[in-house]
Amino acid sequence: MTKTNTSSITEPVASTSAADRTTQTQKADAFFNDSIYNEEAAAFSNQQLTDHMAYADGMEVLDSTLLEEVLQARNSYDYAAYSEADVRQALSHQQRSPKDFAALLSPAALPLLEDIARQAQQERQRYFGNSVTFFTPLYIANYCENYCIYCGFNSHNRIHRARLNREQLIREMEAIAQTGMQEILILTGESRKMSDVYYIGEACKLARQYFKVVGVEIYPVNSDEYAYLHQCGVDYVTVFQETYNSDKYAQLHLAGAKRVFPYRFYAQERALRGGMRGVGLAALLGLDDFRKDAFATGLHAYLLQKKYPHGEFAFSCPRLRPIINNDKIKPLDVHARQLLQVVCAYRLFLPFASITVSSRECARVRDNLMLICANKISAGVNTGIGGHSHKQELGDEQFAIDDNRSLEEIYAAMERLKLQPVMAEYVYV
Ligand code: SF4
Repeated sequence: MTKTNTSSITEPVASTSAADRTTQTQKADAFFNDSIYNEEAAAFSNQQLTDHMAYADGMEVLDSTLLEEVLQARNSYDYAAYSEADVRQALSHQQRSPKDFAALLSPAALPLLEDIARQAQQERQRYFGNSVTFFTPLYIANYCENYCIYCGFNSHNRIHRARLNREQLIREMEAIAQTGMQEILILTGESRKMSDVYYIGEACKLARQYFKVVGVEIYPVNSDEYAYLHQCGVDYVTVFQETYNSDKYAQLHLAGAKRVFPYRFYAQERALRGGMRGVGLAALLGLDDFRKDAFATGLHAYLLQKKYPHGEFAFSCPRLRPIINNDKIKPLDVHARQLLQVVCAYRLFLPFASITVSSRECARVRDNLMLICANKISAGVNTGIGGHSHKQELGDEQFAIDDNRSLEEIYAAMERLKLQPVMAEYVYV
């Protein structure tokens, strides 16, 4: 087994002395990332806004209690109450409980990060061997009706908008398929009007002709619409909850259907009921207290897995990145050391879950996370519209990426790390 070298991820990070850890804990209590606010967002949020906990017309309401369970657990999660002994106990268990997961995410776990990483690497080996699954995202439209103040696609941001037509979709998919990629993740901004479910379904039918695995990361829809997309060839659905702090969620999501917190929360459950093979979950680390959000994300997946044991579960671990027209965002509010802690905690809690590290992270961080605890990586990424086949993108990109390597380059990097690149995990007979 490869040596677990956490310093290769965490070298540029400031030390975490006992005093630092106390300060981090105190800061987290009063956490607010005000770098994502601008004057327009502040003025808008002073207006009368809709109730973010109330469903809008047409939104399916499930008979489920998962939301209450996750929010209650998140709100009562006091990570400062965990000790090094709790962390060691969590590490000694073969299967980790939510309490163990809470300990692994606590500040008390940081001094044991080497031990945690070593065990996470063993679990990664046990469930995934040395394989690394590749995929590429394809942004097919960037129209969006939501006002998420941290995102470059938000409806108030004056950017170039575009939506690929059938010919452009084919050109993009051909360009991606020619690189050897066999899994694709189709993304849109969240506009039912400009990218309706049938438009997305047609794009997925096309994708099915070029790729063995098709995922979508689109606005949440009802279970019958997920069933339709599944018929069009979609295998899995990823939805980021962004933050599980419902009050903070209301402050960050000022308009549009995304403002409805419970409808977004239940997207994965509707997708599984619609027949999807798998679902992906994530909090955008850095929006709110990352320990509580990571805890809620893991618990959300854990409870879903108990309820839908046939489903496949996946985590993404995005951190905030600078966006177009807002260069003040502080992406490093969650440092590399904390990111490693979160990804290792996911691996130890739900060792069978797939974990993706996005191209928002630099090559060094991504490669080392793959070696230790993650198992899925995007390559040849372009977050603009039409960027795979056009030198000049048709629409602006969603966020800045840090790892611009081509598929070939990442493939070679994985082989140098003695990892085995896998282009498709499924064989269809
Ligand atoms: S995060 Fe998604 S929903 Fe929000 S503005 Fe960006 S693209 Fe739209």
